[in-house]
Amino acid sequence: MATPLYSSKLSGSKFKNWIKAGLGVLYTKQGIEPFVYDEIEQFQQKCLSDICNNNGLVAGTTCSSCCTENVIVCPTNRICNVGRGKCKFHRNSATQYLLAGCPNKICHNFKKEIQNAHRFCGPSYKNTDASQWCSNAWEVAKCFMPPDGYKDVTDAAETDFNGINSVIINYKAFQAKVQDDLSKKSNIFEQGREVGKAVRHSPQLEVEDTDLQQYFTDLQNLLSDPAYLSANKAAQNAKTKLQQLQNDTLIIGKDDIRDVLDDVAKAVQDKIRTEIDVHRIEAEKKV
Ligand SMILES: [Zn+2]
Ligand SMILES: [Zn+2]
Repeated sequence: MATPLYSSKLSGSKFKNWIKAGLGVLYTKQGIEPFVYDEIEQFQQKCLSDICNNNGLVAGTTCSSCCTENVIVCPTNRICNVGRGKCKFHRNSATQYLLAGCPNKICHNFKKEIQNAHRFCGPSYKNTDASQWCSNAWEVAKCFMPPDGYKDVTDAAETDFNGINSVIINYKAFQAKVQDDLSKKSNIFEQGREVGKAVRHSPQLEVEDTDLQQYFTDLQNLLSDPAYLSANKAAQNAKTKLQQLQNDTLIIGKDDIRDVLDDVAKAVQDKIRTEIDVHRIEAEKKV
């Protein structure tokens, strides 16, 4: 049974706007999932074939025995909480490994490729499991997402819009498939990111009518980029759904409302978890 407060919230038009904006973000994410996955999978395969060619390895050589702490040197900014304390990320066994390198001559080279492919040269190694770089392209994609909150996601479906959208912004080679200038601060994917942020951070779970229209415009612009997305099926399906949301011809069910609330709840939980981690590290340093 819904409480009276909940019913009054549901009937409020600004809350309905917020649900519509949240659904718009979810549909946009679904619209770019295949685009991002395919591009990263191609990058993963190209890295592997280049590494084999350049190092005289048999084509198809892979490695699954190096973990992230083996591949990342100590200290690495934002991972090793150096300063006064001892690094908590690298254990002793990792130091041994660094002297010898990857036994298959793959992983340290893969790390270099990822580093060079990142727009800001700052891959999010905290998110990723390097032992899966050869077998799961999404672990490579996670290097191009924000630094926190994606450790446990294993595929595109489990990843939120902000994570997937960030891969387009941070993986430089996406520029070949995007007409808008990705180095520009206000490019269409940056604008999309702002929409996602506004929805997640709305304390009253409310959106004004004029803001909602702007959000729809921004998300539709993102899905309409003429270099690739404007002819991509998933992107255009998402665009159709956005138009239906905007015209009020899409029926919003309870499941849709739950999806939006779950998405925001997860983002908030990740943020709290990150803050707890930061406080814990700070507390440990003081001991
Ligand atoms: Zn370290
Ligand atoms: Zn290796």
